[in-house]
Amino acid sequence: MTQWHARDQQYLMNTYNRLPIAISHARGNTLYDTEGNEYLDLFTGLAVNVLGHTHPAVMEELNRQGGSFLHISNKFLNPPAIRLAERLVKHSIDGKVFFGNSGAEATESAIKLVHKWTQEQGEGKRGFVVMKKSFHGRTLGAVRLTRQPGVYQDYPQPDLPVFEVEPNQPEELRRVCEQENPAAILAEPILGSGGVQPLDTSYLQEMARLCREQGRLLLMDEIQTGIGRTGTLFAYQHAGLQPDLILFAKGVGGGLPLGGIIAGRKLADLFHPGDHGTTFAPSPLSAALGNAVLDVLLEQGGLEEGQKNADYLWNHLRRLQKYLPDAIGEIRGRGMMIGIDTFLTPAQAKQLQLDLLQDGVLVDIAQQTVIRLLPPLTLTPDESDRFADRLERRLKQTFS
Ligand SMILES: *Cc1c(COP(=O)(O)O)cnc(C)c1O
Repeated sequence: MTQWHARDQQYLMNTYNRLPIAISHARGNTLYDTEGNEYLDLFTGLAVNVLGHTHPAVMEELNRQGGSFLHISNKFLNPPAIRLAERLVKHSIDGKVFFGNSGAEATESAIKLVHKWTQEQGEGKRGFVVMKKSFHGRTLGAVRLTRQPGVYQDYPQPDLPVFEVEPNQPEELRRVCEQENPAAILAEPILGSGGVQPLDTSYLQEMARLCREQGRLLLMDEIQTGIGRTGTLFAYQHAGLQPDLILFAKGVGGGLPLGGIIAGRKLADLFHPGDHGTTFAPSPLSAALGNAVLDVLLEQGGLEEGQKNADYLWNHLRRLQKYLPDAIGEIRGRGMMIGIDTFLTPAQAKQLQLDLLQDGVLVDIAQQTVIRLLPPLTLTPDESDRFADRLERRLKQTFS
């Protein structure tokens, strides 16, 4: 570990506070470090490894597609990507897909597409409404829609008006729409980096109503919430909406870089050759692994299985909350996206994360004092038991 730590500091730019472990390999829901320690992975590479690590369906596709071809460029038809796009559309909104390599690229694509719509059909509408504490990425365009205190936002800004509203305040949303005449409303159904804050179903429906009646575009950022994490393929589906555009990434490439947008009928045919593109995406290998993930989720009962595993974990956490009311506040989220509000100080929360790591459990901390869990859908009851046991012991220690 120490040698990797020193070399990391010397050769990699200082853009992340890394945990002091170097991973050697992973199997299922367990990470192994170079010192021989094991960790139960409740972070899944930030919601990427939906089925944990080395899932047989994903490994089989990795070998099959990996042995066929890795990259061909956008000058040719790309069967794995066509198949993935078709499945994403059939399980969400009627429209077309554009693929990029990451979440931020999905946001950039959405900004460009909405901009083009604004110019051609916007009738004077301009800009985006975003939620306070939203996260939509770190490239220059994406960072302008992001509302996180820790994200450096002070860049030269092109002409893109952004209007920030408090989540779950329909009055304010109505007022901003009336006063500012925005082209689009963009929201995460559950704000992830914002501390796992779900938007109320009624609020999402009000958003959809405003967009429908006032001719604005409804954009759902499903980069963290999508690909089965909340029990449906996309989280907006719980609210019975029809967004005009869906952003996806993280879990969609089965562990490899892939992201993009699903554009509904209003937007699907706006881009023409030359308007937008990228060299690598859609990587045939990422798309093939994404198809393997969808096989499991949609055709082999993976969504239902994930929901069962999530229910088990939630029951545990609710019991723990009743038992330790001085340590645990609200528990928020849905399915395998969970925020446990604690009464820890930021320093204590950081220490709890390190203590749990020592106990062999990897969790994330969001908004300084919220334990954020992004477990694999394959988390077994045994693994939930182990986590709940370690968490209980550590919280009792801290609050005794
Ligand atoms: C992670 C994330 C992004 C950015 O994705 P990257 O792949 O890191 O660029 C955007 N929106 C949400 C909701 C995310 O969770």
